[in-house]
Amino acid sequence: MDSLLARISRGQLWPSPGGVHPPVNKSQSNSLPIHILPLPPRLVLPVKQHIGAQGHLLVNVHEQVLKGQALTKPHANWSVPVHAPTSGRIIDITPMPSAHPSALPELSIIIEPDGEDRWCELVPHPNYRELTAERLVDILHFAGISGMGGAGFPTYIKASTKQQIDVLIINGAECEPYISADDVLMQAHSEEIVRGIEVLRHLLQPKLTLIAIEDDKPKAIAAMEQASANIDDMQVRAIPTKYPSGGEKQLIQILTSKEVPAGGIPADIGVLVQNVGTMYAVQQAVELGKPLIERVVTVTGDTLAEQRNVWALLGTEVKHLLAQQGFTPEPMQRVIMGGPMMGFTLPTVRIPVVKTTNCILAPSAAEMPMPGEERACIRCSACADACPASLLPQQLQWFAKTKEYKKLEEHQLFDCIECGACAYVCPSEIPLVQYYRVAKAEIREQQIEQIKSDRAKERFEARKERLEREQEERRNRHKRPRRSTEQDSQSKEKVAEALARVKRKQADKGDDKTRLPPPLPVRKRKRRANNLSRITVT
Ligand code: SF4
Ligand code: SF4
Repeated sequence: MDSLLARISRGQLWPSPGGVHPPVNKSQSNSLPIHILPLPPRLVLPVKQHIGAQGHLLVNVHEQVLKGQALTKPHANWSVPVHAPTSGRIIDITPMPSAHPSALPELSIIIEPDGEDRWCELVPHPNYRELTAERLVDILHFAGISGMGGAGFPTYIKASTKQQIDVLIINGAECEPYISADDVLMQAHSEEIVRGIEVLRHLLQPKLTLIAIEDDKPKAIAAMEQASANIDDMQVRAIPTKYPSGGEKQLIQILTSKEVPAGGIPADIGVLVQNVGTMYAVQQAVELGKPLIERVVTVTGDTLAEQRNVWALLGTEVKHLLAQQGFTPEPMQRVIMGGPMMGFTLPTVRIPVVKTTNCILAPSAAEMPMPGEERACIRCSACADACPASLLPQQLQWFAKTKEYKKLEEHQLFDCIECGACAYVCPSEIPLVQYYRVAKAEIREQQIEQIKSDRAKERFEARKERLEREQEERRNRHKRPRRSTEQDSQSKEKVAEALARVKRKQADKGDDKTRLPPPLPVRKRKRRANNLSRITVT
């Protein structure tokens, strides 16, 4: 029988559970070339744009910076730097609304471009195969590259895995409606993407590399096939269009039949997944020495005169992106960061583009009506049928509403990829994903609080122990050493002997009659002599 790897290599595909087929709405933006925007009036760069710790600031307010200059340096695990997207002056470093559903303020560096767009000195490595693996991983790290298709996982961590990778998957599925950023990038820059994949293959040495693209992107498939035609063990794989085939776990299942264990990572089963945009960034960083300072963003929706993909500098505010596409807002206009399924409505258009921003959607009310009022669950189980993670969305919803966190965890809430397929099919228009997001945030908060309280308890116990130890040591220092019984009896004997000696001496004195009395003192002797002479005269 064929080995699994042979079957994968031959092109076999496997079914994945659930999924939905919403209207794709990509044709509005996927046929135009990628547009280059004029410089925005200011750039707002959050210091942290990825999973992990933020870097240390390297710059101050009023400082002049060059394009590509590092603004932060990594200082802890999973810390990735950010770089100046153009030359200009730092006008402020302050918390600003973040590109997150909560829009909570995050420390950001605000740059006023000087219009010159002057690069700092770049260090390209066209002969990267001569470098050590550590040096190559460092280049990816200091270029600030994190995953550009999902949550923003630092690329250097994945690239330095010690686990054996059998199958490297390059994710070009781009399954969410409206978004065509990866599609046009593959059409326009397939050579660079393949060269970026080669860098990763050099580091990971996989047995097979698959570039997965949904079959509704024929131009991208053709471009990638042409660019990878002469490379052994690298294949382009067209997969059926279904949302969310591009989810990491779903894509692995479709291409390899393997399931990532709950709480595990793909590397645990010998698979590693990277996005096509990330591979482009890897090629730019290694071969040209350019850090990650820009990305392709789909700017779409019927309120725009032009719907297309643009090269957006990181830190560009959504307001600028929309204005450049002829934005005509409607009353109660919604602007969504991300697609209609997994994206979130922005509270303000002053939110900046970050490394994970793939789409800005400004739909008209007719195009995307406001969701209706939430009604009661009718237990139709349509949500369970649609769930690609084989969860029970209606149950999760009950537990989320009643804040039964233990039950939520037992029902694998954290396996939910927040794809929104359940909410999409729900006839009662229950905003299921919102309930899950809130519950996840609350559980994480509780876990953080628990960790904090455990640490505080540990510190308290350690302090108490130390104080007790010090008190004991002090007590022992001031205590007289106790004499032993033997020592006591010895000293008693000595005292008795001494007394006996004294008595003997006294007894000796009384018995000796021949002994003369002790001599008188001189004055007494004189007086006695005088007395004696007086007696003699009379
Ligand atoms: S789809 Fe909606 S109404 Fe149907 S079971 Fe799920 S949550 Fe309930
Ligand atoms: S949002 Fe979560 S529960 Fe709903 S379909 Fe997607 S994975 Fe399943």
